[in-house]
Amino acid sequence: MLDYISKLDRALVPPEGGARSIALLGSTGSIGRSALEVLRLHPEKFRVRALAGARNIPLLAAQAAEFRPDYLGLMAEDDISRLRGLLPADFNPVILSGREGYERIASLAEAEMVLSAQAGAAGLRATYAAAAAGKIIALANKESLVLAGGVLRAACARSGAVILPVDSEHNAVFQCLAGGIAARRDGTGQTQSGVSRLILTASGGPFWGKTREFLKTASPEQALDHPNWSMGAKVTIDSATLMNKGLELIEAGQLYGLPMSALEVVVHRESVVHSLVEFCDGAQLAQFGRPDMRIPIAYCLGFPHRLGSGLPGPDLPALGALTFARPDAENFPCLALARRAQERGRGCPVVLNAANEEAVAAFLARRLAFTSIPLVVEHCLDEHWERVAGEAGRGDGQVSGLSDAGPEDAGRLGRVGKNAPDRYADAAGERAAVEGIFALDALARSRAKEIIETLPRSI
Ligand code: MG
Repeated sequence: MLDYISKLDRALVPPEGGARSIALLGSTGSIGRSALEVLRLHPEKFRVRALAGARNIPLLAAQAAEFRPDYLGLMAEDDISRLRGLLPADFNPVILSGREGYERIASLAEAEMVLSAQAGAAGLRATYAAAAAGKIIALANKESLVLAGGVLRAACARSGAVILPVDSEHNAVFQCLAGGIAARRDGTGQTQSGVSRLILTASGGPFWGKTREFLKTASPEQALDHPNWSMGAKVTIDSATLMNKGLELIEAGQLYGLPMSALEVVVHRESVVHSLVEFCDGAQLAQFGRPDMRIPIAYCLGFPHRLGSGLPGPDLPALGALTFARPDAENFPCLALARRAQERGRGCPVVLNAANEEAVAAFLARRLAFTSIPLVVEHCLDEHWERVAGEAGRGDGQVSGLSDAGPEDAGRLGRVGKNAPDRYADAAGERAAVEGIFALDALARSRAKEIIETLPRSI
């Protein structure tokens, strides 16, 4: 297991009777709103120091009036006066804007914990700032790990930051492992977990079981109609293509230090089992719960203690039966694309994510057919790989700053990119790697946009 996940010897419990101070990035999004619902249940245990929401200014103002944080963050500087005008007259917090504002909020001295719940690749900068500043990070932004798992691992090792996974599957794994992570060390500093593989469950999304013909003409409205989970638009489309599960495979590999060969996906339509851990003796532990993000959020916010989430457990007799199936690789190729990207490493996960974000945006704008989303991603990935292989001669060289996330030389249960924590000499090296990742991200986006123009539009 990774050091930064297992470094639970750090005192994560607030002083006796003290409240945990927290900054929420992405407070107006789906995860942020669920987190505030949990915080509302435990006012004595938390002090909200900062709230940041990109665009929904009225909601951010309402949250601010309720929780009275010292700092507020938003994306556009032009929105500051509008936000100020919506706040109560007797309330005058510091308002920060833009990328720098988010990074400052992520590293505030006043906040011990940071909820990183921004949408998309943009969330990486603030997550990195929190990691560099030694925070306890409740991480909901999976792109941070997909793009820069190695950089974050290095930053956490240097600063003592800890990452607690909010994503429901990874949180389920974390819950199944929590009893053993901190306790079982063999004297060499290595955690002896006996884990043989992780099994991530997938709901299958709204299009599970549909025919190829149906998928070709699927509309954004149909794709946004998720059977179990209520989430933002981007992640709901990713759930329909199964790219969400692909990104989660990469996320799990980075969080738990496992290669793709130790990670499996099982389709589980009821979304009651949120993931499983299989141990070397063949035992599997699973976490059951209603499909509601308040449960994993509450587990992270209160960790190592459990907090009420406001929800009861699932009513198993009412459910009657739970079903499990293998993913349909033919109709949902994004899963295999994500595996390939992570196995290749060298910037491939960055390209995968960027091409997918552009393809999803084009699908939502009816400029791309649903079945063309994986085509865009595959095209961009193959082009990138050809270029990387060409630059490296035999395809085994390193691309400066982009060689993060290469598990291919790790043993089956070895750490992903085992030299990663030592790869960056200092914080400046880590920051340069993050900028390198965003440079590749921008390149991949512009290429994806060109490719999208050549493909059929959605109906
Ligand atoms: Mg998830």
